[in-house]
Amino acid sequence: MVAGLDEKLEPIYQEVLRRNPGETEFHQAVREVLESLGPVLVKYPEFADRKIIQLICEPERQIIFRVPWQDDKGVTQINRAFRVQFNSALGPYKGGIRFHPSVYLGIIKFLGFEQIFKNALTGMPIGGGKGGSDFDPKGRSDGEIMRFCQSMMTELYRHLGEYTDVPAGDIGVGQREIGYLFGQYKRITNRYESGVFTGKGLSWGGSRARKEATGYGTVFFTEEMFKARADALDGKTCVVSGSGNVAIYAMEKAMSLGAKVIACSDSNGVIVDKDGIDLELVKQIKEVERRRISAYAEEKKTARYLEDGNIWTVPCQVALPCATQNELNGTDAKTLIKNGVIAVAEGANMPSTPEAIRFFTEAGIAFGPGKAANAGGVATSALEMQQNASRDSWTFEHTEERLREIMVDIHRNCHQTSEEFGAPGNYVVGANIAGFVKVAGAMVAMGVI
Ligand code: NAP
Repeated sequence: MVAGLDEKLEPIYQEVLRRNPGETEFHQAVREVLESLGPVLVKYPEFADRKIIQLICEPERQIIFRVPWQDDKGVTQINRAFRVQFNSALGPYKGGIRFHPSVYLGIIKFLGFEQIFKNALTGMPIGGGKGGSDFDPKGRSDGEIMRFCQSMMTELYRHLGEYTDVPAGDIGVGQREIGYLFGQYKRITNRYESGVFTGKGLSWGGSRARKEATGYGTVFFTEEMFKARADALDGKTCVVSGSGNVAIYAMEKAMSLGAKVIACSDSNGVIVDKDGIDLELVKQIKEVERRRISAYAEEKKTARYLEDGNIWTVPCQVALPCATQNELNGTDAKTLIKNGVIAVAEGANMPSTPEAIRFFTEAGIAFGPGKAANAGGVATSALEMQQNASRDSWTFEHTEERLREIMVDIHRNCHQTSEEFGAPGNYVVGANIAGFVKVAGAMVAMGVI
């Protein structure tokens, strides 16, 4: 069952369905935002008069192109790549690039749409965009990854620029891929334009704490949700899905704040370690050796490996979905609630289905939606852009402190907005409205463009 839409918003949603057939993830992301916006149109009728919602649902520009490259055997491979430049009311388009075989236009549009509001919530001057390709990096050699990235950038470079569009990493795109992409951009343009990419290596314009930022930020947000309920993360049992960039650093910060993390996963299975996850071992397996998470149980006898297991059946007080979209459904939410979960914060983008969110909300669980809870990554990307613009390089401590302040502000903003619009403690409503109002105000100010 889905919640009803305001009568002014239903036709807008129907038009989104008609204009974007088959793009189910995009439909889901739009609907989730529209469900919050009814009271906004009452307070700000000019947004309806100026058709701001219809405009915001239509990307400013969508680029689709082929990426031909040769594999190690000399065989020609052809992938498809996307860049959706969704909204630039607050600044240059900003959002990551994803390499995963599931990527198609609907996924990139859902991610780009969410990014608009997330970026607004950070308080930084960045618009929303997203990109990616159906290229599958799993099992590919370094040389193949490099040739793919170079071929992709040979087309993409003409659409980027530090004042135009600034990509970063996402699933399947880490510092290695950003290096190859940035290198090709630099070669083609003959410009050392550091601010055109974020997530760069430290010696070539990257920011300290960027790698850690999304996961750390998600945990800072979780800690604020606990504080708002006069509680703390310290001593809580925690489960984190995924074992990629976001998951690893969410686990690291949760542990440092006193939580006990007992499970994580990858797309093949789940590891459960009742003694607490050995994070150095996870980093060695995932960041250095690039192996499957099953290797953890081979090394660590206290751990169980559940092939094709469901991580949400592991009892916990805090659940941090940090892998991918729609990885936590209504049944999973019910299981978590039955097992005593208190807080859920989304490190990934849209990992909880609408039904799961409804169950959490009805059960009074503290629920931090991705566009607020994982905004620390893009916020620190904006800090990287600041450092690049001033040719400066901040310490880890300074950057992490800025990140923490930003997450505290985002939490405060979402919480206050949820109260102002009659849904106290509902961070979904708070995040959607606070993000939307900021972008919509700028769009009205700039006229019909
Ligand atoms: P990553 O480093 O590539 O890690 C992704 C993790 O999720 C891997 O462990 C992967 O397992 C797992 N995973 C991916 N698809 C899955 C599936 N269909 N089922 C189960 N597990 C799956 O990517 P990431 O940067 O951590 O991104 C994770 C999530 O956070 C994404 O939703 C992304 O959009 C969001 N996010 C990332 C950032 C950032 O700064 N990186 C910022 C904001 C939000 P396999 O290795 O088996 O595929």
